Amino acid sequence: MFQKILIANRGEIALRVLRACKELGIQTVVVHSTADADAMHVRLADESVCIGPPPSRDSYLNIHQIVAACEITGADAVHPGYGFLSENAKFADILAAHNITFIGPTGDHIRIMGDKIEAKRTAKRLGIPVVPGSDGAVTDQKEAKRIAAEIGYPVIIKASAGGGGRGMKVALTEADLEIALQTASTEAGAAFGDDAVYIEKYLEKPRHIEVQVFGDGFGRGVHFGERDCSLQRRHQKVWEEAPSPALNAEERARIGGICAKAIADLGYSGAGTIEFLYENGEFYFIEMNTRLQVEHPVTEAITGIDLVHEQIRVASGGGLSVKQEDIKFNGHAIECRINAEDPRTFTPSPGTITHFHTPGGLGIRVDSGVYSGYKIPPYYDSLIGKLIVHGRNRVECMMRLRRALDEFVVDGIKTTLPLFRDLVGNADIANGDYDIHWLEKYLAKEE
Ligand code: ADP
Repeated sequence: MFQKILIANRGEIALRVLRACKELGIQTVVVHSTADADAMHVRLADESVCIGPPPSRDSYLNIHQIVAACEITGADAVHPGYGFLSENAKFADILAAHNITFIGPTGDHIRIMGDKIEAKRTAKRLGIPVVPGSDGAVTDQKEAKRIAAEIGYPVIIKASAGGGGRGMKVALTEADLEIALQTASTEAGAAFGDDAVYIEKYLEKPRHIEVQVFGDGFGRGVHFGERDCSLQRRHQKVWEEAPSPALNAEERARIGGICAKAIADLGYSGAGTIEFLYENGEFYFIEMNTRLQVEHPVTEAITGIDLVHEQIRVASGGGLSVKQEDIKFNGHAIECRINAEDPRTFTPSPGTITHFHTPGGLGIRVDSGVYSGYKIPPYYDSLIGKLIVHGRNRVECMMRLRRALDEFVVDGIKTTLPLFRDLVGNADIANGDYDIHWLEKYLAKEE
């Protein structure tokens, strides 16, 4: 087991990882920018190292500074959290070259899944169902038209290097295709320095369903069930739940089994998420994330298993603490992402939190790095906390969520809490009857 882990992140996830390390008796080091000197993770860690000024590229993305911090403090492993360097293959390789363990998969596995065309090809080879579309990058208009006609309109053009919903364009008819191809490619080039794009069938009313997987480091793969993350705004998840209100036990076992086998065949090690669109009873792979996800706590709530403990165990060579047959699903969990944003316009609302009071009681978990008097710096993501609620079934979970949202107080800044108070009273949400476009339509109506 590791003696000392360096946490290369900030905010709620840095605290989340820190808690797991403390429980396992592992010393903790955190790195931080000058803007985060007063952050909770800095206060609670055994050691902290300031690695640079506020902009992420000079601090949380500065590989040299982070490696230097490991060497100065004698950390033997790094947990990257999510975002920042968590899916940076070069970072994983550099740590390996310094004999520091990256708590995550190998650089090669990150590379395969970071390139969406390569990821899709790999998924197909491993027997994972994929969205019909081009086999590789498409540059030529003629070829694009031929493929689109073959799979049928509407189609979506996506960036191979994509992320965060950028570089995606829908073409409803052949007349739209030329412009869509050009704009997607230009946008991808500007955002990612790689203008390769590919074509997929555009699914009109899918749900976003993702499977939590783990490779144990010894060639075995397991799955921890699915999460439904269909409530999205601008391709960003807002509300996540487990299990999905749309799947039955047979579908769950089938897709879980396919994913676990693929992870084993790939020789993957650590936590990962295989993301699908789900429509009319069919699953279509869209991408794999080779890291811990923001929404992992809903899976922890229904399985009772600490996924960060498992990540640390696997990375240290100790394998998973559970086998597939030990992973049981109990009740229902929902996560609300609380952002420092205007609940209608979603413009960021940084500033000082004058009062912060979190709900409590049975089945309530709040993961947050903020406190009363904390000043939110304007440089980073606007997520300030996550409310995760567990109940014996979805109805109980929703009742408890409503009560927890009423208790939650964040004064001094605007947050997305009022949006969740509206959603929890909505009939479609109560019925679990929503797809990936539901929230955008709902917000448009409310305007
Ligand atoms: P990113 O890595 O940029 O987030 P993804 O491939 O994960 O891109 O897709 C993000 C979101 O875009 C999905 O959750 C879904 O809402 C939408 N999307 C992606 N591919 C399709 C498709 N083929 N049909 C319909 N919607 C899609």
